[in-house]
Amino acid sequence: MVGAGISGLLLARELREAGHSVVVLEKSRGVGGRMATKRVGETSFDQGAQFFTARTPEFARLVETWVQAGTATAWPGTEHRRWIGSPAMTAVPKALAEGLDVRREAKVTAARRRDDGGWDLAIEGQPTLAAGRLLLTCPVPQALAMLGAGGTVLPADLAAALGRLTYHPCLALLAVLKGPSAVPAEGVAPAGGPLRWLADNVRKGIARGVPGAVTVHAAPEYSAQHYATAEADVTAELLAAAAPWLGAPVVATALHRWKFGEPAATHPEPCVWRPELGLGFAGDAFGGPKIEGAARSGLALAAAVGGV
Ligand SMILES: Cc1cc2nc3c(=O)[nH]c(=O)nc-3n(C[C@H](O)[C@H](O)[C@H](O)COP(=O)(O)OP(=O)(O)OC[C@H]3O[C@@H](n4cnc5c(N)ncnc54)[C@H](O)[C@@H]3O)c2cc1C
Repeated sequence: MVGAGISGLLLARELREAGHSVVVLEKSRGVGGRMATKRVGETSFDQGAQFFTARTPEFARLVETWVQAGTATAWPGTEHRRWIGSPAMTAVPKALAEGLDVRREAKVTAARRRDDGGWDLAIEGQPTLAAGRLLLTCPVPQALAMLGAGGTVLPADLAAALGRLTYHPCLALLAVLKGPSAVPAEGVAPAGGPLRWLADNVRKGIARGVPGAVTVHAAPEYSAQHYATAEADVTAELLAAAAPWLGAPVVATALHRWKFGEPAATHPEPCVWRPELGLGFAGDAFGGPKIEGAARSGLALAAAVGGV
């Protein structure tokens, strides 16, 4: 399996539960993918996903187990039913990864289908790994790149459907403040302009030891236009746009560029499973975006493969 984001972790857990032998290959040092928490100095920020909602009974039941386990909690001070990780967003994927064979810092560069129907996975700086089936939960363009690099030619209908799944990038700026911010407790989504979202991680209960710690997400159009712009220039522009909500001098910043921030289009099915190829796809580009969509996609693929 490739990818230890929420879709991949839930998929791996279900399959292991059903008796399959599962190895999860994850290119990063940590798990969670876009459910990411980042430290700037001594301060923690939710850098990617900010909160999750549970609109389906299936996902609501899952969230309830996370709340019971103490890895998720209601966002303090918000009117809507919004959930956050506790003590921060990565708590949920970290707990889900426990007991799984997750191999971190294992970047899959090519996936080649063997004549016997199995798969050979080339991993950067490591020996090739053989697998009976290949389940891909990384963003679809990354999945297609590794299949292409392995010389795997997909059936035309599948290649066309997956080729349509593109993503918007997102520039994420993290700002440590000298004083309390003016960001409302529940965060704010400014209309128009370069910003899409601001939240204060102190008011959210994520950041401690500083008076203000604001996550600023740029809008998709701005992020696409400035994806390759120098960090100093993007930082200056985003801070200027965020000024009405910062309310205190900025003492430190960090910029992260999410290349595959959110799906621009989604596949109509909650997952893709091609048993004749031993190949499956899941993630937030299938069935519905966001954490809930990604989670449900991972569970759908587990059910299709024979997990539940
Ligand atoms: C800035 C931002 C804000 C967001 N805000 C929200 C929000 O408020 N609420 C919400 O519900 N959702 C939000 N989302 C969306 C949410 O984070 C995603 O929908 C969800 O986390 C996707 O999970 P996933 O498992 O599909 O993919 P990912 O989390 O992307 O997991 C894929 C994993 O695959 C790994 N990978 C990629 N390529 C390789 C490779 N070659 N080899 C090995 N591993 C590889 C990646 O490192 C990653 O860990 C936000 C996303 C971003 C970027």
